[in-house]
Amino acid sequence: MQVPPPFEYQRAGTVDEAIALLDRHGPEARLLAGGHSLLPMMKLRLARPETLIDINGLSELDYIRRDGDEIAIGAMTRHASVLASALLAEHYHIFVEAERVIADPLVRNRGTVGGSICHADPSEDLSAVFAALRGNAVIRSARGSRTVALRDFHVGPYETVVGAGEMLTEVRVPIRTRTGSAFEKVERRAGDWSIAAAGAFVQLDGDMVADVGIGITAVGAEQFTCVEAEEALRGRAASDEAVAAAASSCAAGCRPSADQRGPEDYKRHLVGVLVARVLHRSIASARGGVA
Ligand SMILES: Cc1cc2nc3c(=O)[nH]c(=O)nc-3n(C[C@H](O)[C@H](O)[C@H](O)COP(=O)(O)OP(=O)(O)OC[C@H]3O[C@@H](n4cnc5c(N)ncnc54)[C@H](O)[C@@H]3O)c2cc1C
Repeated sequence: MQVPPPFEYQRAGTVDEAIALLDRHGPEARLLAGGHSLLPMMKLRLARPETLIDINGLSELDYIRRDGDEIAIGAMTRHASVLASALLAEHYHIFVEAERVIADPLVRNRGTVGGSICHADPSEDLSAVFAALRGNAVIRSARGSRTVALRDFHVGPYETVVGAGEMLTEVRVPIRTRTGSAFEKVERRAGDWSIAAAGAFVQLDGDMVADVGIGITAVGAEQFTCVEAEEALRGRAASDEAVAAAASSCAAGCRPSADQRGPEDYKRHLVGVLVARVLHRSIASARGGVA
């Protein structure tokens, strides 16, 4: 049985306490949210934090609520709560579709929004959702609070802009009118990580694409997005041709690696198919049809 190296355990009761503990224990301290990514890394000795700061008691960060023209999601919100949220389902069906295929109920009951995006696994599904929706991350430290676009959040695989003494407290997504969204993933078996997955929202003005966001995961896309494809679609008629061109652009622009989940060309092909599907379904949903 694999066991982690020894570590000190601290439990925070509030965000302020968690930040004070981060400051006191320095860069070798790590926050413990659901533990579904960090603990396996520790058991494999790929992570060796000297101190774990358990933030599972921070109920103040467990919420999904409307705040003006945005939806705010607390960092300690569990996957299961995202899946069950009527507010998110009403505005962005992409969350329901992504969460249904993230792991299994055991992981979804424990894993958190904050832990997911801070772990920064290049195959993580919610990162593609937030990239598509162009959400923002709220990061707090003893010095105050700063907001970072989620498209600038990931510095590289397993690395984010959250620095020493800082913690992610909230993710915010803008509410848009006349918008449809969707997510599709191909996995080897139910509950597995993506071979490739894509998510999108489309906002229509008449039959023109007023705005669009595309997120893809597990295929080496910078910041989980396809910016060129979005730019080509924005301001154009929401036609089959425009969708096909955007899907091809995403497939050409991503950088998948061959691994046990499949060769590079197969993953690239999947990206094209999945992006086309989510764009078509988002457009249908924005038009008021069935997505
Ligand atoms: C069997 C299994 C299958 C899975 N399948 C999928 C899948 O299909 N798709 C998918 O997307 N994910 C999948 N996951 C990952 C799952 O979603 C995890 O819950 C998630 O990656 C980590 O969330 P956590 O709350 O457990 O974070 P933790 O493991 O507690 O923490 C992860 C990292 O984030 C840091 N952190 C946590 N919270 C904060 C914060 N508020 N501020 C700053 N840093 C923070 C921690 O210090 C740590 O470095 C799977 C996990 C397992 C175990």
